Amino acid sequence: MTPRIYLDHAATSPLRPGVREAMLEALESFGNPSSVHAEGRAARARVEAARHAVMRAIGAEGEGALLFTSGASEANAAALAGDGVVLAAAVEHPSVLAQPGVEILPVDARGRLDLQRLEARLARGGARLLAVMLANNETGVVQPVAEAVRLAHGAGVPVHVDAVQALGKLAIDVSALGADSLAVSAHKIGGPKGVGALWLRRPERFSPLLLGGAQEGRRRAGTENTVGIAGFAAALEAVSTEDAAWLEGLRVELEAGIIAIAADARIVGAEAPRVPHISAVALPDIDASTQVIALDLDGIAVSAGAACSSGKVASSHVLAAMGLAPAIAGATLRVSLGWSSTRTDVEHFLTAYEKLVRRGRRAAA
Ligand code: PLP
Repeated sequence: MTPRIYLDHAATSPLRPGVREAMLEALESFGNPSSVHAEGRAARARVEAARHAVMRAIGAEGEGALLFTSGASEANAAALAGDGVVLAAAVEHPSVLAQPGVEILPVDARGRLDLQRLEARLARGGARLLAVMLANNETGVVQPVAEAVRLAHGAGVPVHVDAVQALGKLAIDVSALGADSLAVSAHKIGGPKGVGALWLRRPERFSPLLLGGAQEGRRRAGTENTVGIAGFAAALEAVSTEDAAWLEGLRVELEAGIIAIAADARIVGAEAPRVPHISAVALPDIDASTQVIALDLDGIAVSAGAACSSGKVASSHVLAAMGLAPAIAGATLRVSLGWSSTRTDVEHFLTAYEKLVRRGRRAAA
């Protein structure tokens, strides 16, 4: 059987070494973190150690409060909840764009928030929040968050940052960014699914989504997911400062190889700063789902634009917002690297990609 090559880390990453063990240990330490007895205190200690680890990872030690959630979708929903207008970049994750009151702001052709349009919109007033992601999950394009925060704060508008695709890949510092709240998720860095966190600069202003329990400082009712939280901390511990440089080197090889195979392939967002692990590749004339299926048959897991929950490929709101023609957007593949990626993975991908291009071009001729 062909060995599987996993290049879909922006959708999710396999568990990093050490995470499973930390989770098994937390499973054994079964106490409820709210209980006062020794079993409860042991579970509480794990949760608090993990909280410090996540806060450290986002430069928030000693600042504000961090609550654990079921993932970044919940963290985004909790941060945005409330009445009134939330301005959001057109390329935000659906968990942001689907919230009530969202008003979309345009991005430029590189996929970056149009700061002039943001400034003009802020001047008109009436917005209660701005939501802007640190890095996009389909293209890897990094948003001008600090500049957007300056403009928003100048207009008295706080800013929520979705940092899911940046965690472990870019240095995150809530103070340098000026963020008022920030969402992260464990499963994109080799932690378990179903656990994330929301950091709040002014927790006293936060209105909880889940009521009826004193957990998480009364900001999220429900017994904590102690096993998931322990896994999140273990994944963060395994993140190395060298990861980003290594991933960037692999991505450079990947993209150079792609262009050498198909000179008309286009790296979407290449003109903008990007996180090191995501590459969106448009290959004219070959439908993205055809590419995904052909590569899958060759043992390679990638996705078309964003991973889709329904299993079918929907048109990408991100690529449309960047002004890509539907035919090009529909021919765009997302290849995303992660902690387990190797140079051999990239080489195998390029071999399969060459086959796919040759076959596709023959069929189109
Ligand atoms: N935000 C971004 C940018 C993402 O890539 C994802 C994951 O798909 C999410 C939010 C949602 O995260 P979760 O799967 O933890 O709900």
